[in-house]
Amino acid sequence: MSIAENIALIKAGLPANVGLVAVSKTKPSELLMEAYQCGQRIFGENKVQELVWKQEELPKDIGWHFIGHLQTNKVKYIAAFVQLIHGVDSFKLLKTIDSEAKKVNRIIPCLIQFHIAEEETKFGFSLEEALEMMNSSDFKSLVNVAISGVMGMATYTEDENQIRKEFAHLKKIFGKLKSEYFARNPDFKEISMGMSGDYRIAVEEGSTMVRIGSTIFGERNAKQSTV
Ligand SMILES: *Cc1c(COP(=O)(O)O)cnc(C)c1O
Repeated sequence: MSIAENIALIKAGLPANVGLVAVSKTKPSELLMEAYQCGQRIFGENKVQELVWKQEELPKDIGWHFIGHLQTNKVKYIAAFVQLIHGVDSFKLLKTIDSEAKKVNRIIPCLIQFHIAEEETKFGFSLEEALEMMNSSDFKSLVNVAISGVMGMATYTEDENQIRKEFAHLKKIFGKLKSEYFARNPDFKEISMGMSGDYRIAVEEGSTMVRIGSTIFGERNAKQSTV
């Protein structure tokens, strides 16, 4: 199937309120352009260097999302154009994004990443850690970031019940933060969860944004696909 057909099929199965991030990491610009030509405008990348050259090379109306682990010393390369940073996994990173956004006179939308999977290796906050951050005066003084919601990745497993439980947990975290901290903040509205293998479950559990790569563009080279 073509990229256009893949996107059409995915979109046909997504509720209207769920955004689609086309995860184009490791894929060449020609393939991104195929997606672009059938109307896709949001692309997700997880390597700063690759994101920077694709942003330079491809049409300027693309919204670029950074979806992986972001190193603080690289924020400056994407601060001027990145549309949403999905994986804010430390207070230090959030503060760096704020200061780099200030330099380019922007407010950068960010999602707080939560550790919802069983695996030790996945990045992210626990609810307690996030609450501690949000209660600090440092946090309240950040003005160049817009906290737009939460993001998480489920365990890589065949066990659908476990995946569902983890996504439901993220939805619950979102609800708690929304009512306790962001009740009057309309920016705080996104739940970024769901990838090729599990996005249907994520949508059933309340995802507002799915991040889909291989189902659109085909499998990635195993060596390059590290997340
Ligand atoms: C690679 C990646 C995806 C997309 O994965 P697929 O299984 O190819 O859909 C989604 N989210 C993050 C954070 C990723 O790194």
